[in-house]
Amino acid sequence: MDAMEHTELLIAGAGIGGLALALAARRAGVAVQVLEQTPVLAEVGAGIQLGPNAVRVLDEWGLMEALRGVAAFPEAISVRDAHDGRELGRLRLGSHAVRRYGHAYATIHRADAHGLLHKAVQALGDVEIRLGQRVREIEDKGLHVNITTAQQQEYQAHALVGCDGLWSMVRPYVLGNPAQRFADHTRAAPRFSGHLAYRGLVDMAHLPNPLQAAIVTVWLGPKLHVVHYPVSAGRQFNVVAVVHGQIKEHDAPHWSHEAHVSQLMQAVGPVHASLTAMLDAAPQWRLWPLNDRPPMRGAAEHARGRVALLGDAAHPMRPYLAQGAAMALEDAWTLGQLLHTRSAAQPIDWAGLFQRYAQHRWTRNAKVQQRAIRNGTVFHSDGWLQQGRDWAMSLLGERLLDQPWLYSGPPPLHGTS
Ligand SMILES: Cc1cc2nc3c(=O)[nH]c(=O)nc-3n(C[C@H](O)[C@H](O)[C@H](O)COP(=O)(O)OP(=O)(O)OC[C@H]3O[C@@H](n4cnc5c(N)ncnc54)[C@H](O)[C@@H]3O)c2cc1C
Repeated sequence: MDAMEHTELLIAGAGIGGLALALAARRAGVAVQVLEQTPVLAEVGAGIQLGPNAVRVLDEWGLMEALRGVAAFPEAISVRDAHDGRELGRLRLGSHAVRRYGHAYATIHRADAHGLLHKAVQALGDVEIRLGQRVREIEDKGLHVNITTAQQQEYQAHALVGCDGLWSMVRPYVLGNPAQRFADHTRAAPRFSGHLAYRGLVDMAHLPNPLQAAIVTVWLGPKLHVVHYPVSAGRQFNVVAVVHGQIKEHDAPHWSHEAHVSQLMQAVGPVHASLTAMLDAAPQWRLWPLNDRPPMRGAAEHARGRVALLGDAAHPMRPYLAQGAAMALEDAWTLGQLLHTRSAAQPIDWAGLFQRYAQHRWTRNAKVQQRAIRNGTVFHSDGWLQQGRDWAMSLLGERLLDQPWLYSGPPPLHGTS
């Protein structure tokens, strides 16, 4: 075993949440080390939508120009019936979003979002990212935290933040009896939603003209929905089709595999011609199970002593509000704000700071988790519920899709600018 390394703040996981926190903490002058289990720094998956609340965070970190270089900025969200194709509702984005929420609505390839955060972290310097280090054991020693990785390397830090995603190893430490955390794996496991996501990318050039519009389209049908939007500065479309299904190894952390378009077509059944054309155009598909956890029940699920959780490690959610990465960015922004307002003359009171963070974040994260679950039910509804949904959309129009409470975030901290 090598000698123990020491840092101020140790971050477990270099996904979008971990890199965002590394950036926020470095900007506040805190020494940071990041441990990432994978041997190569990379993002899997395809696209993500960044609501105006997420874009606001990136803007405050000076990343707007970098974002403009790689993202797309859709003009609207259009909700359509997956079978007859009629538009059920529409929310204007583009300049309307900037006027209404203060920032634009962006859509981006995950690798680009990850890449722009990584570049920003590198530009600040003094952040060490150790690859191939899987955090496994955590011990709070009172004045510091000891961390041991599966590679038998030991680290010491004044504080630890678990940004290690859905299958977090830090989470059981924060939530449960640490002595039981490995024995009682089932209690700690996320739950399978019963939904499967097929994800693919389509080159814009391979699409018929009417499908090339720079909008987020959400197709709704009983027990299914499909979302597509431009990414890679408009050169590609990201397509996600969600259907009901089962998996055998539902507790396997890395269940994901290649899928064939015929499987997807069978799962969605006959749908509108434009939607069929979009699904047909993707050369490859990957299938993922969608897991989540019940919405947070209190601040204690965010932090304990010198150890805190951020992003999916704290509040994994179904992707039906398109806000999982956005909430990770908001969490990181909040910790950055708290670090900025500390007294530079005193050592950081990490336990106190994490309590303020937890109190400030948990209700919003819980609400977003809850709304994401509700959206899934509404999206996939059948019969009376479906008729009610369509009627409400035609009656209320844009008001039903407008989310100022969400898109105008992140909520400011009292006593900070
Ligand atoms: C189909 C789908 C569509 C989505 N669409 C959107 C969207 O449109 N908008 C949006 O905002 N969100 C969306 N999300 C959610 C978003 O992808 C996640 O919320 C976000 O990636 C969470 O980031 P994270 O950094 O918390 O976790 P992750 O991205 O999971 O990163 C965790 C990192 O920690 C590492 N790690 C894990 N365990 C350890 C360990 N023990 N030690 C060290 N490192 C470790 C992992 O290798 C990984 O690099 C979607 C999700 C899905 C599944």
